[in-house]
Amino acid sequence: MIDFLPDDTPELRAWRAEVRAFLAEVVPGGMHFDYDFDESPEGWEKSLDFWRKVGAKGWIGLTWPKEYHGLGRSAIERWILWEEFANWPAPGFPVIGHAVSWFLLRHGSHEQKLRHLKGIADCTILWGEGYTEPSSGSDLASLTTRAHRDGDDWIINGQKTFGTAAHQCQWMAVFARTDPNARPHEGISCFLVPLDTPGIQMLPMHNMAGGQQNQTFFENVRVPHANLVGDVNQAWSQIWFHQGGQNLDQPGHAPDVMEYRMLRTLKEVFTFCRETKRGGKPLIEDPVVRLQLAELVEGMEIIKLQSFELHSTLVNGTAEGWNPLGGVFNQIHYREFWPHFAQVCMDIVGPLAQIEGGRWAQLQGRIEHYFRGSFGNHAGGTAQLKRMTAATRGLGLPR
Ligand SMILES: Cc1cc2nc3c(=O)[nH]c(=O)nc-3n(C[C@H](O)[C@H](O)[C@H](O)COP(=O)(O)OP(=O)(O)OC[C@H]3O[C@@H](n4cnc5c(N)ncnc54)[C@H](O)[C@@H]3O)c2cc1C
Repeated sequence: MIDFLPDDTPELRAWRAEVRAFLAEVVPGGMHFDYDFDESPEGWEKSLDFWRKVGAKGWIGLTWPKEYHGLGRSAIERWILWEEFANWPAPGFPVIGHAVSWFLLRHGSHEQKLRHLKGIADCTILWGEGYTEPSSGSDLASLTTRAHRDGDDWIINGQKTFGTAAHQCQWMAVFARTDPNARPHEGISCFLVPLDTPGIQMLPMHNMAGGQQNQTFFENVRVPHANLVGDVNQAWSQIWFHQGGQNLDQPGHAPDVMEYRMLRTLKEVFTFCRETKRGGKPLIEDPVVRLQLAELVEGMEIIKLQSFELHSTLVNGTAEGWNPLGGVFNQIHYREFWPHFAQVCMDIVGPLAQIEGGRWAQLQGRIEHYFRGSFGNHAGGTAQLKRMTAATRGLGLPR
């Protein structure tokens, strides 16, 4: 496997060693838990316990400004941190909170950053995202959840869907229509909503990989004006920043949670091929399997290179505005490659991959679990939509 990690300095090597030592102490032997495709109470508890320990070290907000509960460390250090977590493996970061942190750093007021980033940094407050509605997914500008002003408050009515692990969250960033007469993109605002506010109800949506998204209903939900993010009716640029254009423009981009799962799975499949014999020979020596593994590595390396490319343009300050060769291309490739990657892993491990327990089980069924999760690749916008974004916004092609 090609491996040219950009940490060839004594300081960065020491940082990597520090992260490894922490993992060995806190999750000896590693732990598999993906917050959106796993739903065991015990898994949640252990995962949160792990991330609170990470938070106590200040590593969740590693690259955030010190003023806002961060450590102000470098992007490359964050990269190393996440890569080590993937390799160990450590449980996935709980819920969308990390994405909300970038969102708040970019669009939140000074007071909102001071107030809300602390809970994300120490993993005591979990955040969900309320974008999607039953009739507004890709075409998010058609959303119909409404918010109207009432004195110093806003009152929200409507329904969000697909809220990843929202049942575990205390807060949600909710996008609502605040001007029904404006053009679709121009009348939307974002509100920070505590999920214990009267008028909120949640129903589970169990996904086929065993995790839980949620329907969230808002009936006359009252939130103070101070919870509005940015200016009223101006949330489309916030959505654009988050979902379509470039959600990675903070120095600190690292393999995101999906790449992280892929890296971890690839490592497991390699180990499996080294340790498993078929026809008297280790699988790793089978020419067909070698070809399959090469394809997986190649796809993963593309993702990694795209991440490095984005990382370097951001760190070198060349990514003013939208960077077509960075975030979006990376997202397209990942989303399209993920189900294929998972299918090839299944093919390599074979039919016994489907068994979770007992002596015949291979890797405790984790590869098949990963395979089922790979169809959740439209979270955050589908590959088709990302392609359209790349074509129109990035390359200036007509619609
Ligand atoms: C695991 C998972 C977690 C999620 N978590 C959250 C969350 O926490 N919060 C949240 O708000 N949402 C969440 N979502 C929702 C996600 O953002 C939407 O599923 C996504 O935006 C697509 O919307 P849709 O499902 O309504 O599909 P649709 O928009 O109905 O699309 C259906 C198909 O049509 C294609 N299509 C649609 N429009 C076009 C077009 N103009 N050109 C070409 N093709 C098109 C799409 O690519 C897709 O293949 C999650 C989804 C999943 C699967």
